[in-house]
Amino acid sequence: PPPGSPDITIARAVTPRPITEVAARLGIEPSQLLPFGHDKAKLPLAFTDELADRSPGKLVLVTAITPTPAGEGKTTTTVGLGDGLSRLGHRAAICLREPSLGPCFGMKGGAAGGGRSQVIPMEDINLHFTGDFHAITTAHNLLAALIDNHLHWDNALNLDPERITWKRTMDMNDRALRHLTVGLGGQGVPRSDGFDITAASEIMAILCLARDLADLQRRLGKIVVARTRDGEPVMARDLKAEGAMAALLKQALAPNLVQTLEHTPAFVHGGPFANIAHGCNSVMATRSALALADVVVTEAGFGADLGAEKFFNIKCRQAGLRPDAVVVVATLRALKMHGGVTREALGQPDPEAVRRGAANLARHVENLRGFGVPLMVAVNQFDQDSAEEHAVLREACDQLGVEMAVSSHWRDGSAGSEALAERVAALLDAPAPEPTLTYADDAGLVDKVRAIATRLYGAADIHLEERAQRQLEEYEALGYGHLPVCIAKTQYSFTADPGAQGMVVGHVLPIREVELAAGAGFVVVVCGAMMRMPGMPRHPASVDMRLDEDGEIEGLS
Ligand code: ADP
Ligand code: MG
Repeated sequence: PPPGSPDITIARAVTPRPITEVAARLGIEPSQLLPFGHDKAKLPLAFTDELADRSPGKLVLVTAITPTPAGEGKTTTTVGLGDGLSRLGHRAAICLREPSLGPCFGMKGGAAGGGRSQVIPMEDINLHFTGDFHAITTAHNLLAALIDNHLHWDNALNLDPERITWKRTMDMNDRALRHLTVGLGGQGVPRSDGFDITAASEIMAILCLARDLADLQRRLGKIVVARTRDGEPVMARDLKAEGAMAALLKQALAPNLVQTLEHTPAFVHGGPFANIAHGCNSVMATRSALALADVVVTEAGFGADLGAEKFFNIKCRQAGLRPDAVVVVATLRALKMHGGVTREALGQPDPEAVRRGAANLARHVENLRGFGVPLMVAVNQFDQDSAEEHAVLREACDQLGVEMAVSSHWRDGSAGSEALAERVAALLDAPAPEPTLTYADDAGLVDKVRAIATRLYGAADIHLEERAQRQLEEYEALGYGHLPVCIAKTQYSFTADPGAQGMVVGHVLPIREVELAAGAGFVVVVCGAMMRMPGMPRHPASVDMRLDEDGEIEGLS
Protein backbone atom coordinates (compact mmCIF):
# COMPACT_ATOMS: atom_id res chain seq x y z
CA PRO A 1 0.00 0.00 0.00
CA PRO A 2 1.22 3.57 -0.74
CA PRO A 3 2.36 5.79 2.16
CA GLY A 4 -0.62 7.44 3.78
CA SER A 5 -2.87 4.38 3.41
CA PRO A 6 -5.04 3.66 6.46
CA ASP A 7 -3.10 2.00 9.27
CA ILE A 8 -5.19 -1.13 9.06
CA THR A 9 -4.47 -1.48 5.30
CA ILE A 10 -0.73 -1.17 5.89
CA ALA A 11 -0.89 -3.62 8.79
CA ARG A 12 -2.86 -6.22 6.82
CA ALA A 13 -0.40 -6.14 3.93
CA VAL A 14 2.28 -7.59 6.23
CA THR A 15 2.29 -11.29 7.01
CA PRO A 16 3.19 -11.70 10.66
CA ARG A 17 6.02 -14.14 11.35
CA PRO A 18 5.14 -17.01 13.67
CA ILE A 19 5.60 -15.76 17.23
CA THR A 20 8.12 -18.54 17.87
CA GLU A 21 10.32 -17.03 15.16
CA VAL A 22 10.02 -13.53 16.67
CA ALA A 23 10.87 -14.97 20.09
CA ALA A 24 13.87 -16.77 18.62
CA ARG A 25 15.37 -13.36 17.77
CA LEU A 26 15.62 -12.89 21.54
CA GLY A 27 16.96 -16.40 22.09
CA ILE A 28 13.66 -17.65 23.51
CA GLU A 29 12.94 -21.36 22.91
CA PRO A 30 9.40 -22.41 21.90
CA SER A 31 9.12 -24.32 25.20
CA GLN A 32 9.71 -21.01 27.04
CA LEU A 33 6.66 -19.41 25.43
CA LEU A 34 2.97 -19.56 26.21
CA PRO A 35 1.47 -19.01 22.73
CA PHE A 36 -1.87 -17.29 22.17
CA GLY A 37 -2.55 -18.37 18.60
CA HIS A 38 0.23 -17.94 16.04
CA ASP A 39 1.22 -14.31 16.44
CA LYS A 40 0.90 -13.56 20.16
CA ALA A 41 2.44 -15.17 23.22
CA LYS A 42 3.08 -14.62 26.90
CA LEU A 43 6.37 -15.23 28.64
CA PRO A 44 5.41 -17.62 31.44
CA LEU A 45 6.33 -16.47 34.95
CA ALA A 46 8.61 -19.48 35.46
CA PHE A 47 10.66 -18.13 32.56
CA THR A 48 10.61 -14.47 33.64
CA ASP A 49 11.84 -15.60 37.08
CA GLU A 50 14.83 -17.25 35.39
CA LEU A 51 15.62 -14.01 33.57
CA ALA A 52 16.15 -12.10 36.81
CA ASP A 53 19.85 -13.03 36.98
CA ARG A 54 20.77 -11.96 33.45
CA SER A 55 22.61 -8.69 32.95
CA PRO A 56 20.33 -6.07 31.41
CA GLY A 57 20.64 -4.51 27.96
CA LYS A 58 20.41 -0.78 27.28
CA LEU A 59 17.17 1.09 28.00
CA VAL A 60 15.95 4.00 25.87
CA LEU A 61 12.99 6.11 26.96
CA VAL A 62 10.87 7.82 24.30
CA THR A 63 9.04 10.89 25.55
CA ALA A 64 7.74 14.08 23.92
CA ILE A 65 7.31 17.81 24.07
CA THR A 66 3.92 19.15 25.19
CA PRO A 67 1.58 17.50 22.65
CA THR A 68 -1.37 18.62 20.57
CA PRO A 69 -4.57 16.63 21.16
CA ALA A 70 -3.69 14.43 18.14
CA GLY A 71 -0.55 13.01 19.81
CA GLU A 72 2.95 13.71 18.49
CA GLY A 73 4.02 10.16 17.74
CA LYS A 74 5.72 8.65 20.79
CA THR A 75 4.33 5.19 20.10
CA THR A 76 5.08 5.49 16.40
CA THR A 77 8.62 6.68 17.15
CA THR A 78 9.17 3.90 19.70
CA VAL A 79 8.25 1.35 17.04
CA GLY A 80 10.24 3.14 14.32
CA LEU A 81 13.34 3.43 16.50
CA GLY A 82 13.10 -0.24 17.51
CA ASP A 83 12.90 -1.22 13.86
CA GLY A 84 15.75 1.14 12.99
CA LEU A 85 17.97 -0.43 15.66
CA SER A 86 17.05 -3.91 14.37
CA ARG A 87 17.94 -2.80 10.87
CA LEU A 88 21.39 -1.77 12.11
CA GLY A 89 21.86 -5.27 13.48
CA HIS A 90 21.14 -4.66 17.14
CA ARG A 91 19.18 -7.23 19.09
CA ALA A 92 16.38 -4.75 19.84
CA ALA A 93 12.97 -5.00 21.47
CA ILE A 94 10.30 -2.45 22.24
CA CYS A 95 7.97 -2.11 25.22
CA LEU A 96 4.57 -0.43 24.93
CA ARG A 97 1.37 -0.12 26.90
CA GLU A 98 -1.71 -2.16 26.04
CA PRO A 99 -4.46 0.01 24.57
CA SER A 100 -7.74 0.45 26.41
CA LEU A 101 -11.05 -0.29 24.71
CA GLY A 102 -12.56 2.98 25.92
CA PRO A 103 -10.50 5.41 23.80
CA CYS A 104 -10.46 2.89 20.96
CA PHE A 105 -14.23 3.20 20.52
CA GLY A 106 -14.45 6.76 21.76
CA MET A 107 -12.11 9.51 20.75
CA LYS A 108 -8.61 8.53 19.95
CA GLY A 109 -8.79 5.29 18.02
CA GLY A 110 -6.32 2.49 18.69
CA ALA A 111 -2.85 2.87 20.09
CA ALA A 112 -0.62 0.47 18.21
CA GLY A 113 1.47 3.08 16.35
CA GLY A 114 0.73 4.22 12.81
CA GLY A 115 1.83 4.18 9.20
CA ARG A 116 4.79 1.83 8.69
CA SER A 117 5.57 1.87 12.39
CA GLN A 118 2.96 -0.32 13.99
CA VAL A 119 2.70 -3.37 16.18
CA ILE A 120 0.65 -6.30 14.92
CA PRO A 121 -1.81 -7.99 15.06
CA MET A 122 -3.33 -4.52 15.51
CA GLU A 123 -6.95 -5.69 15.70
CA ASP A 124 -6.18 -8.11 18.51
CA ILE A 125 -3.94 -5.66 20.35
CA ASN A 126 -6.64 -2.98 20.19
CA LEU A 127 -9.51 -5.30 21.12
CA HIS A 128 -9.38 -8.21 23.57
CA PHE A 129 -5.71 -9.17 23.08
CA THR A 130 -4.66 -11.76 25.69
CA GLY A 131 -7.39 -10.89 28.18
CA ASP A 132 -5.28 -8.89 30.64
CA PHE A 133 -7.83 -6.07 30.88
CA HIS A 134 -10.55 -8.59 31.60
CA ALA A 135 -8.48 -10.09 34.42
CA ILE A 136 -7.78 -6.66 35.91
CA THR A 137 -11.43 -5.65 35.67
CA THR A 138 -12.50 -8.88 37.36
CA ALA A 139 -9.93 -8.68 40.16
CA HIS A 140 -11.01 -5.08 40.78
CA ASN A 141 -14.70 -5.98 40.89
CA LEU A 142 -14.09 -8.99 43.13
CA LEU A 143 -12.72 -6.59 45.74
CA ALA A 144 -15.74 -4.31 45.25
CA ALA A 145 -18.11 -7.26 45.67
CA LEU A 146 -16.30 -8.36 48.84
CA ILE A 147 -16.73 -4.90 50.33
CA ASP A 148 -20.49 -4.81 49.77
CA ASN A 149 -20.77 -8.40 50.91
CA HIS A 150 -18.95 -7.46 54.09
CA LEU A 151 -21.46 -4.66 54.70
CA HIS A 152 -24.30 -7.11 54.09
CA TRP A 153 -23.01 -9.68 56.61
CA ASP A 154 -22.80 -7.70 59.85
CA ASN A 155 -19.88 -5.42 58.85
CA ALA A 156 -17.47 -6.89 61.39
CA LEU A 157 -14.74 -4.44 60.35
CA ASN A 158 -17.07 -1.52 61.06
CA LEU A 159 -16.67 -0.03 57.56
CA ASP A 160 -18.21 3.38 57.10
CA PRO A 161 -20.47 3.01 54.01
CA GLU A 162 -19.96 6.72 53.34
CA ARG A 163 -16.19 6.38 53.22
CA ILE A 164 -15.69 3.52 50.82
CA THR A 165 -13.23 4.73 48.20
CA TRP A 166 -13.00 1.52 46.14
CA LYS A 167 -15.36 1.82 43.17
CA ARG A 168 -16.28 -0.54 40.33
CA THR A 169 -14.50 -0.71 37.01
CA MET A 170 -15.15 -1.43 33.34
CA ASP A 171 -13.10 -1.05 30.15
CA MET A 172 -15.51 1.28 28.34
CA ASN A 173 -16.02 5.01 27.97
CA ASP A 174 -19.40 5.23 29.69
CA ARG A 175 -20.13 8.49 31.48
CA ALA A 176 -23.55 7.23 32.62
CA LEU A 177 -21.78 5.03 35.15
CA ARG A 178 -19.73 7.74 36.82
CA HIS A 179 -22.09 8.19 39.75
CA LEU A 180 -24.67 5.69 40.89
CA THR A 181 -26.29 4.18 43.94
CA VAL A 182 -25.80 0.51 44.75
CA GLY A 183 -27.57 -1.74 47.20
CA LEU A 184 -31.10 -0.65 46.28
CA GLY A 185 -34.24 -2.80 46.49
CA GLY A 186 -33.39 -4.22 49.90
CA GLN A 187 -30.39 -6.04 48.44
CA GLY A 188 -27.55 -4.89 50.67
CA VAL A 189 -26.60 -1.53 52.07
CA PRO A 190 -27.52 1.41 49.80
CA ARG A 191 -24.60 3.74 49.18
CA SER A 192 -23.10 5.98 46.51
CA ASP A 193 -20.75 4.28 44.11
CA GLY A 194 -19.51 4.62 40.55
CA PHE A 195 -17.36 3.12 37.83
CA ASP A 196 -13.85 4.04 36.71
CA ILE A 197 -12.38 2.82 33.45
CA THR A 198 -10.09 -0.20 33.86
CA ALA A 199 -6.97 1.75 32.86
CA ALA A 200 -7.64 4.01 35.88
CA SER A 201 -7.92 1.09 38.32
CA GLU A 202 -5.23 0.88 40.96
CA ILE A 203 -4.96 -2.79 40.02
CA MET A 204 -3.67 -1.72 36.62
CA ALA A 205 -0.94 0.36 38.24
CA ILE A 206 -0.14 -2.48 40.63
CA LEU A 207 0.17 -5.01 37.80
CA CYS A 208 2.49 -2.61 36.01
CA LEU A 209 4.76 -1.98 38.99
CA ALA A 210 4.88 -5.48 40.51
CA ARG A 211 8.24 -7.25 40.16
CA ASP A 212 6.85 -10.78 40.50
CA LEU A 213 3.83 -12.72 41.70
CA ALA A 214 4.72 -12.42 45.39
CA ASP A 215 5.12 -8.66 45.04
CA LEU A 216 1.80 -8.49 43.17
CA GLN A 217 -0.05 -10.30 45.97
CA ARG A 218 1.59 -8.17 48.64
CA ARG A 219 0.68 -4.94 46.84
CA LEU A 220 -2.92 -6.07 46.34
CA GLY A 221 -3.21 -6.65 50.08
CA LYS A 222 -2.05 -3.08 50.77
CA ILE A 223 -4.79 -1.36 48.76
CA VAL A 224 -6.74 0.98 51.05
CA VAL A 225 -10.42 0.55 50.19
CA ALA A 226 -12.34 2.36 52.91
CA ARG A 227 -12.30 3.85 56.38
CA THR A 228 -13.91 2.46 59.48
CA ARG A 229 -16.44 4.55 61.36
CA ASP A 230 -13.48 5.49 63.59
CA GLY A 231 -11.54 6.75 60.58
CA GLU A 232 -9.00 3.90 60.43
CA PRO A 233 -7.94 2.80 56.95
CA VAL A 234 -9.18 -0.62 55.81
CA MET A 235 -7.02 -2.62 53.44
CA ALA A 236 -7.82 -5.34 50.95
CA ARG A 237 -5.97 -7.78 53.17
CA ASP A 238 -8.35 -6.99 56.04
CA LEU A 239 -11.05 -8.44 53.78
CA LYS A 240 -8.73 -11.35 52.84
CA ALA A 241 -9.18 -10.34 49.21
CA GLU A 242 -5.62 -10.36 47.89
CA GLY A 243 -5.21 -14.12 47.45
CA ALA A 244 -8.11 -14.58 45.06
CA MET A 245 -7.28 -11.32 43.30
CA ALA A 246 -3.71 -12.50 42.72
CA ALA A 247 -5.05 -15.81 41.41
CA LEU A 248 -7.20 -13.93 38.91
CA LEU A 249 -4.19 -11.87 37.82
CA LYS A 250 -1.61 -14.63 37.66
CA GLN A 251 -1.64 -15.03 33.91
CA ALA A 252 -2.16 -11.32 33.27
CA LEU A 253 1.15 -10.60 35.03
CA ALA A 254 3.02 -12.56 32.36
CA PRO A 255 4.33 -10.17 29.66
CA ASN A 256 2.79 -10.30 26.16
CA LEU A 257 5.03 -10.65 23.13
CA VAL A 258 4.03 -9.55 19.60
CA GLN A 259 5.98 -7.99 16.72
CA THR A 260 6.30 -4.78 14.75
CA LEU A 261 5.51 -4.63 11.03
CA GLU A 262 9.23 -5.37 10.54
CA HIS A 263 9.15 -8.26 13.01
CA THR A 264 11.08 -6.62 15.83
CA PRO A 265 9.96 -8.25 19.11
CA ALA A 266 7.44 -6.02 20.90
CA PHE A 267 6.30 -6.41 24.49
CA VAL A 268 2.85 -4.88 24.86
CA HIS A 269 1.86 -5.20 28.48
CA GLY A 270 -0.11 -3.16 30.98
CA GLY A 271 -1.83 0.13 30.27
CA PRO A 272 -2.22 2.51 33.20
CA PHE A 273 -3.49 6.06 32.75
CA ALA A 274 -0.79 8.70 32.64
CA ASN A 275 -2.61 11.25 34.83
CA ILE A 276 -3.88 9.48 37.96
CA ALA A 277 -1.32 6.72 37.42
CA HIS A 278 2.23 6.55 36.10
CA GLY A 279 1.50 5.83 32.41
CA CYS A 280 4.14 3.20 31.61
CA ASN A 281 4.06 -0.41 30.46
CA SER A 282 4.76 -3.11 33.05
CA VAL A 283 7.99 -3.50 34.99
CA MET A 284 7.68 -7.23 34.26
CA ALA A 285 7.82 -6.58 30.52
CA THR A 286 10.57 -3.97 30.71
CA ARG A 287 12.81 -6.11 32.89
CA SER A 288 12.18 -9.23 30.80
CA ALA A 289 12.93 -7.32 27.61
CA LEU A 290 16.15 -5.93 29.11
CA ALA A 291 17.26 -9.43 30.05
CA LEU A 292 16.65 -10.69 26.52
CA ALA A 293 17.59 -7.80 24.21
CA ASP A 294 20.66 -5.62 23.81
CA VAL A 295 18.56 -2.47 23.41
CA VAL A 296 15.02 -1.87 24.65
CA VAL A 297 13.00 1.14 23.53
CA THR A 298 10.01 2.12 25.65
CA GLU A 299 7.43 4.89 25.82
CA ALA A 300 6.01 6.88 28.71
CA GLY A 301 2.58 8.50 28.28
CA PHE A 302 1.94 12.25 27.74
CA GLY A 303 4.62 14.93 27.46
CA ALA A 304 7.93 14.69 29.31
CA ASP A 305 6.74 16.89 32.21
CA LEU A 306 4.37 14.07 33.20
CA GLY A 307 5.47 10.91 31.39
CA ALA A 308 9.23 11.09 31.77
CA GLU A 309 8.95 12.56 35.26
CA LYS A 310 6.85 9.59 36.42
CA PHE A 311 8.97 7.14 34.48
CA PHE A 312 12.00 8.25 36.50
CA ASN A 313 10.47 9.15 39.84
CA ILE A 314 7.99 6.26 40.06
CA LYS A 315 8.88 3.42 37.70
CA CYS A 316 12.69 3.63 37.78
CA ARG A 317 12.68 4.39 41.51
CA GLN A 318 10.50 1.37 42.32
CA ALA A 319 12.03 -1.05 39.82
CA GLY A 320 15.67 0.04 40.08
CA LEU A 321 15.88 0.72 36.34
CA ARG A 322 18.72 2.81 34.91
CA PRO A 323 17.82 4.32 31.54
CA ASP A 324 20.74 4.82 29.16
CA ALA A 325 19.22 7.45 26.88
CA VAL A 326 16.14 9.60 26.40
CA VAL A 327 14.62 10.52 23.03
CA VAL A 328 12.32 13.57 23.00
CA VAL A 329 9.82 13.48 20.17
CA ALA A 330 8.96 16.84 18.64
CA THR A 331 6.72 17.68 15.70
CA LEU A 332 6.53 20.90 13.77
CA ARG A 333 2.79 21.08 14.32
CA ALA A 334 3.13 20.99 18.10
CA LEU A 335 5.94 23.54 18.02
CA LYS A 336 3.79 25.80 15.85
CA MET A 337 0.92 25.41 18.27
CA HIS A 338 3.24 26.51 21.09
CA GLY A 339 4.29 29.37 18.82
CA GLY A 340 0.71 30.63 18.82
CA VAL A 341 -0.67 29.14 15.57
CA THR A 342 -4.33 28.08 15.63
CA ARG A 343 -5.21 24.44 15.16
CA GLU A 344 -6.65 25.01 11.67
CA ALA A 345 -3.40 26.62 10.42
CA LEU A 346 -0.95 24.02 11.76
CA GLY A 347 -0.54 22.47 8.31
CA GLN A 348 0.87 25.70 6.80
CA PRO A 349 4.64 26.34 6.87
CA ASP A 350 5.52 28.95 9.50
CA PRO A 351 9.22 28.95 10.43
CA GLU A 352 8.82 31.90 12.80
CA ALA A 353 6.17 30.06 14.78
CA VAL A 354 8.50 27.05 14.99
CA ARG A 355 11.19 29.35 16.37
CA ARG A 356 8.83 30.74 19.02
CA GLY A 357 7.44 27.31 19.87
CA ALA A 358 10.93 25.90 20.37
CA ALA A 359 10.79 27.45 23.85
CA ASN A 360 8.59 24.51 24.81
CA LEU A 361 11.19 22.03 23.57
CA ALA A 362 13.92 23.97 25.37
CA ARG A 363 12.15 23.60 28.66
CA HIS A 364 11.65 19.85 28.25
CA VAL A 365 15.31 19.44 27.27
CA GLU A 366 16.41 21.40 30.32
CA ASN A 367 14.12 19.32 32.55
CA LEU A 368 15.35 16.04 31.12
CA ARG A 369 18.97 17.07 31.54
CA GLY A 370 18.19 17.26 35.23
CA PHE A 371 17.79 13.47 35.30
CA GLY A 372 21.38 13.14 34.14
CA VAL A 373 20.73 10.73 31.25
CA PRO A 374 22.05 11.41 27.70
CA LEU A 375 19.30 12.71 25.43
CA MET A 376 18.49 13.76 21.89
CA VAL A 377 15.57 15.14 19.91
CA ALA A 378 13.70 13.09 17.30
CA VAL A 379 11.62 15.09 14.86
CA ASN A 380 8.69 12.94 13.79
CA GLN A 381 8.39 13.95 10.16
CA PHE A 382 4.99 14.66 8.60
CA ASP A 383 4.44 14.89 4.84
CA GLN A 384 3.64 18.61 5.02
CA ASP A 385 6.86 19.52 6.93
CA SER A 386 9.06 22.04 5.12
CA ALA A 387 12.85 21.98 4.93
CA GLU A 388 12.94 25.58 6.09
CA GLU A 389 11.06 24.72 9.27
CA HIS A 390 13.38 21.78 9.95
CA ALA A 391 16.35 24.14 9.52
CA VAL A 392 14.91 26.53 12.10
CA LEU A 393 14.42 23.67 14.50
CA ARG A 394 17.96 22.42 13.91
CA GLU A 395 19.27 25.87 14.74
CA ALA A 396 17.24 25.87 17.96
CA CYS A 397 18.65 22.45 18.90
CA ASP A 398 22.19 23.64 18.15
CA GLN A 399 21.64 26.54 20.50
CA LEU A 400 20.44 24.14 23.17
CA GLY A 401 23.45 21.94 22.54
CA VAL A 402 21.24 18.93 21.89
CA GLU A 403 21.46 16.57 18.95
CA MET A 404 18.51 16.28 16.59
CA ALA A 405 17.54 13.72 13.96
CA VAL A 406 14.60 13.90 11.56
CA SER A 407 12.86 10.56 11.27
CA SER A 408 10.35 9.46 8.63
CA HIS A 409 9.53 6.04 10.09
CA TRP A 410 5.79 6.72 9.81
CA ARG A 411 6.14 6.98 6.04
CA ASP A 412 9.16 4.75 5.38
CA GLY A 413 9.54 2.31 8.29
CA SER A 414 13.11 1.54 9.38
CA ALA A 415 14.53 3.01 6.18
CA GLY A 416 13.31 6.34 7.55
CA SER A 417 14.51 5.87 11.13
CA GLU A 418 18.00 4.56 10.40
CA ALA A 419 19.67 7.93 10.99
CA LEU A 420 17.85 8.36 14.31
CA ALA A 421 18.78 4.80 15.32
CA GLU A 422 22.46 5.44 14.54
CA ARG A 423 22.52 8.55 16.71
CA VAL A 424 20.71 6.80 19.56
CA ALA A 425 23.07 3.82 19.35
CA ALA A 426 25.99 6.24 19.68
CA LEU A 427 24.49 7.64 22.90
CA LEU A 428 24.40 4.12 24.31
CA ASP A 429 28.15 3.60 24.21
CA ALA A 430 28.69 5.22 27.60
CA PRO A 431 27.77 3.24 30.75
CA ALA A 432 24.33 4.08 32.18
CA PRO A 433 24.52 6.85 34.75
CA GLU A 434 22.63 6.57 38.02
CA PRO A 435 19.61 8.78 37.24
CA THR A 436 19.17 11.87 39.37
CA LEU A 437 15.64 11.68 40.75
CA THR A 438 13.73 14.87 41.51
CA TYR A 439 13.36 14.17 45.23
CA ALA A 440 14.45 11.70 47.88
CA ASP A 441 12.08 9.10 49.37
CA ASP A 442 12.32 10.71 52.77
CA ALA A 443 11.36 14.23 51.63
CA GLY A 444 7.89 15.30 52.83
CA LEU A 445 4.97 14.79 50.42
CA VAL A 446 4.44 18.54 50.07
CA ASP A 447 8.12 19.05 49.32
CA LYS A 448 7.97 16.35 46.66
CA VAL A 449 5.09 18.07 44.90
CA ARG A 450 6.79 21.44 45.21
CA ALA A 451 10.04 20.06 43.78
CA ILE A 452 8.24 18.84 40.65
CA ALA A 453 6.17 22.02 40.27
CA THR A 454 9.04 24.45 40.63
CA ARG A 455 11.83 22.48 38.95
CA LEU A 456 9.90 20.87 36.10
CA TYR A 457 6.79 23.00 35.53
CA GLY A 458 8.49 26.34 36.14
CA ALA A 459 5.92 27.20 38.81
CA ALA A 460 6.70 29.78 41.46
CA ASP A 461 4.93 27.66 44.06
CA ILE A 462 2.07 25.29 44.76
CA HIS A 463 -1.24 26.13 46.38
CA LEU A 464 -2.80 23.42 48.52
CA GLU A 465 -6.54 23.62 48.97
CA GLU A 466 -7.51 22.92 52.54
CA ARG A 467 -8.76 19.44 51.83
CA ALA A 468 -5.53 18.47 50.04
CA GLN A 469 -3.48 19.86 52.90
CA ARG A 470 -5.45 17.78 55.39
CA GLN A 471 -5.13 14.63 53.29
CA LEU A 472 -1.39 15.00 52.85
CA GLU A 473 -0.93 15.44 56.58
CA GLU A 474 -3.09 12.42 57.25
CA TYR A 475 -1.21 10.18 54.79
CA GLU A 476 2.06 11.17 56.35
CA ALA A 477 0.67 10.43 59.82
CA LEU A 478 -0.45 7.01 58.57
CA GLY A 479 3.08 6.21 57.39
CA TYR A 480 2.76 6.82 53.65
CA GLY A 481 5.04 9.83 53.54
CA HIS A 482 7.92 7.88 51.96
CA LEU A 483 5.93 7.17 48.77
CA PRO A 484 6.59 9.02 45.52
CA VAL A 485 3.89 11.39 44.25
CA CYS A 486 1.96 10.95 41.02
CA ILE A 487 0.73 14.28 39.67
CA ALA A 488 -2.60 14.20 37.85
CA LYS A 489 -2.52 17.23 35.60
CA THR A 490 -3.40 18.20 32.05
CA GLN A 491 -0.82 17.11 29.50
CA TYR A 492 -1.42 20.17 27.33
CA SER A 493 0.57 22.69 29.30
CA PHE A 494 3.17 23.12 32.05
CA THR A 495 0.37 24.46 34.24
CA ALA A 496 -2.92 22.96 35.41
CA ASP A 497 -4.69 24.90 32.64
CA PRO A 498 -4.93 22.99 29.34
CA GLY A 499 -5.28 26.30 27.48
CA ALA A 500 -1.97 27.76 28.64
CA GLN A 501 0.27 26.85 25.72
CA GLY A 502 3.85 27.80 25.06
CA MET A 503 6.02 28.78 27.97
CA VAL A 504 4.43 29.84 31.20
CA VAL A 505 6.62 30.57 34.19
CA GLY A 506 5.98 31.79 37.68
CA HIS A 507 2.48 30.30 37.91
CA VAL A 508 1.05 28.68 41.02
CA LEU A 509 0.07 25.02 40.76
CA PRO A 510 -3.29 24.43 42.48
CA ILE A 511 -3.69 21.10 44.32
CA ARG A 512 -7.33 20.19 44.75
CA GLU A 513 -7.19 16.79 46.40
CA VAL A 514 -4.98 13.84 47.11
CA GLU A 515 -5.59 10.12 46.83
CA LEU A 516 -3.67 7.23 48.26
CA ALA A 517 -2.67 4.35 45.98
CA ALA A 518 -0.91 2.34 48.67
CA GLY A 519 -0.77 -0.87 46.64
CA ALA A 520 0.66 0.83 43.58
CA GLY A 521 2.98 2.68 45.92
CA PHE A 522 2.31 6.33 45.18
CA VAL A 523 0.22 9.26 46.34
CA VAL A 524 -1.92 10.81 43.59
CA VAL A 525 -1.95 14.60 43.67
CA VAL A 526 -4.87 15.99 41.70
CA CYS A 527 -4.56 19.40 40.02
CA GLY A 528 -7.82 20.44 38.40
CA ALA A 529 -10.62 18.10 37.36
CA MET A 530 -9.46 14.56 36.58
CA MET A 531 -11.38 12.07 34.51
CA ARG A 532 -11.36 8.47 35.70
CA MET A 533 -14.27 7.41 33.51
CA PRO A 534 -14.16 9.14 30.11
CA GLY A 535 -17.24 9.70 27.97
CA MET A 536 -17.61 9.28 24.23
CA PRO A 537 -17.68 12.24 21.85
CA ARG A 538 -20.77 13.11 19.80
CA HIS A 539 -19.32 11.05 16.95
CA PRO A 540 -17.66 8.02 18.60
CA ALA A 541 -14.93 6.19 16.64
CA SER A 542 -17.03 3.03 17.01
CA VAL A 543 -19.77 4.23 14.65
CA ASP A 544 -17.32 3.98 11.74
CA MET A 545 -16.44 0.36 12.47
CA ARG A 546 -17.99 -2.63 10.74
CA LEU A 547 -17.20 -6.08 9.46
CA ASP A 548 -16.92 -6.39 5.67
CA GLU A 549 -18.18 -9.34 3.57
CA ASP A 550 -15.10 -11.36 4.48
CA GLY A 551 -15.58 -10.72 8.18
CA GLU A 552 -12.62 -8.32 8.29
CA ILE A 553 -12.84 -5.29 10.58
CA GLU A 554 -13.15 -1.93 8.85
CA GLY A 555 -12.70 1.45 10.50
CA LEU A 556 -10.38 0.49 13.33
CA SER A 557 -7.37 2.79 13.34
P1 ADP B 1 1.51 9.26 20.97
O1 ADP B 1 2.02 7.91 21.33
O2 ADP B 1 2.51 10.32 21.23
O3 ADP B 1 0.17 9.57 21.53
P2 ADP B 1 1.11 8.09 18.34
O4 ADP B 1 2.41 7.51 17.94
O5 ADP B 1 0.08 7.16 18.85
O6 ADP B 1 1.32 9.29 19.37
O7 ADP B 1 0.55 8.93 17.10
C1 ADP B 1 -0.67 9.63 17.18
C2 ADP B 1 -1.39 9.54 15.86
O8 ADP B 1 -0.66 10.28 14.87
C3 ADP B 1 -1.49 8.13 15.31
O9 ADP B 1 -2.75 7.99 14.73
C4 ADP B 1 -0.39 8.05 14.28
O10 ADP B 1 -0.71 7.14 13.27
C5 ADP B 1 -0.35 9.47 13.76
N1 ADP B 1 1.00 9.83 13.31
C6 ADP B 1 2.13 9.69 14.04
N2 ADP B 1 3.20 10.11 13.33
C7 ADP B 1 2.74 10.52 12.14
C8 ADP B 1 3.36 11.07 10.96
N3 ADP B 1 4.68 11.27 10.91
N4 ADP B 1 2.57 11.39 9.90
C9 ADP B 1 1.23 11.18 9.97
N5 ADP B 1 0.59 10.66 11.05
C10 ADP B 1 1.33 10.34 12.12
MG1 MG C 1 1.33 6.49 22.68
